[in-house]
Amino acid sequence: STFAEIDLGDALNANIRRCKYVKPTPVQRHAIPISVAGRDLMACAQTGSGKTAAFCFPVICGIMKGPPTQRPRGVRTAYPLALILSPTRELSVQIHEEARKFSYQTGVRVVVAYGGAPIHQQLRELERGVDILVATPGRLVDLLERARVSLQMIRYLCLDEADRMLDMGFEPQIRKIVEQTDMPQRGFRQTMMFSATFPKEIQRLASDFLFNYIFLAV
Ligand code: AMP
Repeated sequence: STFAEIDLGDALNANIRRCKYVKPTPVQRHAIPISVAGRDLMACAQTGSGKTAAFCFPVICGIMKGPPTQRPRGVRTAYPLALILSPTRELSVQIHEEARKFSYQTGVRVVVAYGGAPIHQQLRELERGVDILVATPGRLVDLLERARVSLQMIRYLCLDEADRMLDMGFEPQIRKIVEQTDMPQRGFRQTMMFSATFPKEIQRLASDFLFNYIFLAV
């Protein structure tokens, strides 16, 4: 199978070629069509499986094909359409770099925000507009409390390395963040969770955050 068969659109396909991805990895082969079809997804996948592309491609594709968005003007609050939560600064930076390559010349803008670094540069980037926000939970709660980010327009929510985020004690922040996005039952938000393991705590998060989801283990 090839990426072209999944019909991600010309711009994204060109970027996939630029990245020299020839063949989808197993998680990509299964997760991308499920997400492009609009279903919520719980995927058990390890680092190195190609999961970053598995969640980025449907999001970029969905934003490009989706209806034009009217976002409030003249305010300092950023209204991302997609949120990717990740446990660490290093992983967030890595996801941001990949997502930027995948969204090259698509008009989709990706911004990253993480803790342990001055907030001012991140605020400036957010002020220039954001479609996809990659963030660590603590820094995002800070941005929400400062009203510099609103999650009211989130259409895509992705939790990457969910088990690691719980191990790091981020569950309260994650719940606070997800509460500020639309409810999955109302059909506005599409949600994906990626985790290396699938213990009780992750199962509970999945049933709280995902709607009628497909379970994938690769
Ligand atoms: P990830 O699991 O998302 O961290 O990806 C692991 C590595 O595999 C990264 O360096 C990706 O750029 C690379 N990669 C992801 N998907 C593919 C693919 N379909 N073909 C070749 N390399 C890939």
